[in-house]
Amino acid sequence: MKYPVYQPSLNGNEKKYVNECLDSSWISSKGKFVNLFEDQFSNFVGTKYGTAVSNGTVALHLALLGLGIGEGDEVIVPTLTYIASVNSITYTNAKPVFVDSLEHTWQIDPEDVRRKITSKTKAVMAVHLYGHPCNMEALKKLCDDHNLFLIEDCAEAIGSKYKGQHVGTFGDVATFSFYGNKTITTGEGGMVLTNDGALHDRIVHLKGQGLAKYREYWHDAVGYNYRMTNICAAIGVAQLEQIDSVLSKKRQIADWYREFLKDTPFVFHSESGDVFHSYWMNTILLPEEMDRDDLKQFLIDKGIETRPMFYPIHTMPIYFKKYEKHQVADRLARRGMNLPSFPELNREDVLQITTALKTF
Ligand SMILES: *Cc1c(COP(=O)(O)O)cnc(C)c1O
Repeated sequence: MKYPVYQPSLNGNEKKYVNECLDSSWISSKGKFVNLFEDQFSNFVGTKYGTAVSNGTVALHLALLGLGIGEGDEVIVPTLTYIASVNSITYTNAKPVFVDSLEHTWQIDPEDVRRKITSKTKAVMAVHLYGHPCNMEALKKLCDDHNLFLIEDCAEAIGSKYKGQHVGTFGDVATFSFYGNKTITTGEGGMVLTNDGALHDRIVHLKGQGLAKYREYWHDAVGYNYRMTNICAAIGVAQLEQIDSVLSKKRQIADWYREFLKDTPFVFHSESGDVFHSYWMNTILLPEEMDRDDLKQFLIDKGIETRPMFYPIHTMPIYFKKYEKHQVADRLARRGMNLPSFPELNREDVLQITTALKTF
């Protein structure tokens, strides 16, 4: 494929730092890069604490466990998200309660959240889908008023800001993913960030097999091995050195898409409100009457890969319990398409991709 939806850029010190791990034999989950990456990434986002983990899914699992969420609890989550947001809730034996999305931002609808709050609700999980921030002011107020925890799934939102403040700093705890197609990558990896020292300690404890602080090989909780390796962290440190240029390149690519798709029937996922969209994915909505599969095939023949938007999770058999309607999410999901979004695209590439779209 000439234009994949994503490919990582590994043009900095990645190889040098990985070789340092190999040369020093620090290849497991101890070593200087893990601490460095945790410090530098939490500093970049603006939280006091960060702990590196093996992927973004376990980051969510730990965040929920750290907050004490489990059997009998309900966690409110948008139906329009990646499966990991919802599965992590299921891992804790809590119940995911689905809510609809907003028409303009495609993010979790605070009014629908309010309607779904019950005496069992313990937390709201805000997912900054495709890099566009959620309405954090409304969600924060709702959570404060109802004494609920606020979890931010920032897997797709490295560099995204709401009213000038980086996402992941509004709730009680935030998680990130460094999978190969995320804005910065460690291959597989994730991070849990918080300003709460006690919560951070609980998460570190659970991530490392529930090891007691006071005795070797004594475990006072059923923990997990969710650690990140020094090799992954080495890649992360190198990636983070390039974050500013990656983010500005991604914003530039979005500007080109918006420019070339102006005056077409395609609706581009632009910023709405006082937000800074990091454009993890450049996404469009197709006109209702257009056949998405036909368009996808037409683009494949021209070497252009696309992805459909996520399917609303309440429609998947594993989560389908009772008939639910989430009108906005259903319609967005039916019409949405992710376009090539990797940072090395240039203006000519975007012109070719958008020309193919217009031709169709
Ligand atoms: C990528 C992603 C995750 C999970 O991250 P992994 O590192 O792949 O486990 C969680 N939530 C969202 C919204 C994501 O896009």
